[in-house]
Amino acid sequence: MDGEVFGGFVCTVCGERHDVLPLKYSVKAPQAVLTVPQEQIEERVLLTADQCVIDNQQFFLRGRMLIPVHGVDAPFVWGVWAEVSPKNFIRSNELWHVPGREQEPSFAGWLNNDLFLFGDTINLELNVHTQPVGERPRFTAADPNHPLAIQQRDGISIETVQDIAEMILHRGESR
Ligand SMILES: [Zn+2]
Repeated sequence: MDGEVFGGFVCTVCGERHDVLPLKYSVKAPQAVLTVPQEQIEERVLLTADQCVIDNQQFFLRGRMLIPVHGVDAPFVWGVWAEVSPKNFIRSNELWHVPGREQEPSFAGWLNNDLFLFGDTINLELNVHTQPVGERPRFTAADPNHPLAIQQRDGISIETVQDIAEMILHRGESR
């Protein structure tokens, strides 16, 4: 995952100062790509900055899950991938350069990245909201009671943004 500069913070886990507090984390590929052996990637996986197809039968779109941050103008962003139906994948291709495409109704997708802070998020149902030409779709968690949906609705504090950074920075370390 990579992030954007927001400002440094003193970490409550290691006690050191980290130079950036990212407001954005993005993943370059759907999780499903990791299940394809390295030597078969070229043959089986089509991957661009915005789309991914595996074996010509699994279809993914890259999008953004926005979470408002209290007192901060810019939202927190998870840049992640959703699996979508072949029909919706084709439809989004047809509309790629079509002005007004944001009028499209939202459609279903299934998260295909591991946001481990929220437990098991693989195949978490999403609503995919098409954005104006040039912008990635926005994803919202479909279940209004899921912690991600609650955060997307109510927003999070800057302290929570720091908690997220600490969990990601120190993932897998024993405390
Ligand atoms: Zn730290």
